[in-house]
Amino acid sequence: MRTVAVIGAGQMGTGIAQTVAQFGMKVLLADVDMARAEAGRAKIDQALGKLVGRGKITTDEATAALGRITAVPDYAPMIEAELIIEAATEKEEIKHRIFAEAGKVLAAGSIMASNTSSIPITRMAVSSPDPARFIGLHFFNPVPVMGLIEVIPGLATSKETVARTRTFAEGLSKQVVLAEDEPGFVVNRILLPMINEAVFVLGQGTASIPDIDKGCRLGLNHPMGPLELADFVGLVPASISSRCSTTPPATASTAPRRCW
Ligand code: NAD
Repeated sequence: MRTVAVIGAGQMGTGIAQTVAQFGMKVLLADVDMARAEAGRAKIDQALGKLVGRGKITTDEATAALGRITAVPDYAPMIEAELIIEAATEKEEIKHRIFAEAGKVLAAGSIMASNTSSIPITRMAVSSPDPARFIGLHFFNPVPVMGLIEVIPGLATSKETVARTRTFAEGLSKQVVLAEDEPGFVVNRILLPMINEAVFVLGQGTASIPDIDKGCRLGLNHPMGPLELADFVGLVPASISSRCSTTPPATASTAPRRCW
């Protein structure tokens, strides 16, 4: 890939844009308007500055990476992108609109990807011009630091799209996990019940917050306890919790509302 477009210049979009630019590719960064796209680019400038301050990269490297990122007011310039990554707000109707609009400029052979955490890839692919070239590309927060990307083919995603997306992800020096298009994919599906359970352990008075986190850090060898991690990543998005049952199965305990 030489040019990658990122739609959504928030927490994830800026992290993705920064990482892609640091790996030598040109990035087109869009949001709802030019002001937000430029604010995203300014945030990346600050993040690169911090890396320079910590001696992780040189000033020249930071300047070059930022120079590869262009804030754009609309999707028209994305005609030159070989990959368009959507990282906008986790609302399905917003994403469908983005895929339809950006799909008008998606070049023949280019790939469209979503960074969604929870919305089915196959369902979103219907709004893209070619579901065979549509895929889930799930980065982890903070993107420049985390070493994993989940790649999630939808029902119609072609083998070629999977292979090219995987090559792109590995080219960012990340490890890839291939996941089926199921709720939460792999990591969040396992993580969210664990965070829920930590909240129940707290709610039932079994242990204190520091002890729950300490138990998991030392007993499970996790770098961060589940409650600390919940604060770090933010709590369950509505789109995931709405897919959780509010009625416990007959065999379950008397615990209140939770994901089964
Ligand atoms: P965020 O709120 O920080 O950023 C979302 C951005 O999308 C905002 O800048 C917003 O202005 C923009 N946006 C909204 N509507 C838009 C539109 N129509 N066109 C263009 N831009 C639009 O959210 P985030 O945390 O960066 O999450 C973005 C996506 O990444 C979501 O799908 C989320 O589920 C996923 N994700 C988040 C995390 C995380 O830890 N935050 C991790 C993995 C995946």
